[in-house]
Parts: sequence; structure tokens; C-alpha cells
Amino acid sequence: MGDMSTDGPTIFERIVAREIPADIVFESDSLIAFRDIAPQAPVHILVVPKTAQYRNVAELAAGDPALLAELVAVAARLADGDYRLVFNSGADAGQTVFHVHGHILAGGLEEGTLAK
Ligand code: AMP
Repeated sequence: MGDMSTDGPTIFERIVAREIPADIVFESDSLIAFRDIAPQAPVHILVVPKTAQYRNVAELAAGDPALLAELVAVAARLADGDYRLVFNSGADAGQTVFHVHGHILAGGLEEGTLAK
């Protein structure tokens, strides 16, 4: 998957528009959350602002801190226990979809696996 921002709507905009299916677990006016198609933990949910305006978490923090706070609050609620909230930022950090999203990883994670 390449940089979707140069390729029309991101895959996440297409999920918001119901153009492609997803296992949606939460939706509000500003956010959507759905299960990652390739889970890397027993619980792996993506929390995504509906707007495609921000490519990464630093842009979101600078542009709409209230929306970032809402994303974090929703992530904590959906995790329903202990969790990691990961924002890959940039291709060299593993980001493949350039539409900001937090990965909720939960369900019995081991120590020492953070940078695998
Ligand atoms: P990142 O690598 O941080 O940009 O994360 C993108 C994530 O989106 C990856 O974990 C993918 O498995 C996930 N993903 C890609 N396409 C879909 C899809 N159609 N439905 C759910 N998750 C997806």
C-alpha cells in the first residue's frame, strides 16, 4: 500500500463513506473505529477521524487538539482494559495510510514487543 494521499480518497475515507466494508465498532460525528483487517494483537482496532485533513498525529494535535483528545478518550473506552495506543508517523515508521489513525492494541500484550 502506498501513500494514499496522492491517490484520491484514502481507504479510511472510503470506509467512512461505506464504499468498502469494515467491522465498525464505534461511530460519532467526528470519528469512526473499526477492526484492523490484519490484527497484530488479540484486540486491534483503528480509531480514525472522519476528516482526511490530518495525515499524522502531530498535524492533528496542532490543528484540532480537541479532536485528538476525543480520539484518545474513545480509544480508552473501546480498549476496555489495558491497552497501547500507537500512531505510526511516516513511512519509515511503518505508516501506510496517510490519514491519521490510532491503533488500539490490547488483549494481553507482552513486555518488550513494542518495536517489533
Ligand atoms: P499504518 O500502517 O499505521 O498506516 O496502519 C494502517 C492499518 O490499516 C494497517 O494495520 C492495516 O492492516 C489496516 N488496514 C488497511 N486496510 C484496511 C481495511 N480495509 N480495513 C481495516 N483495516 C485496514
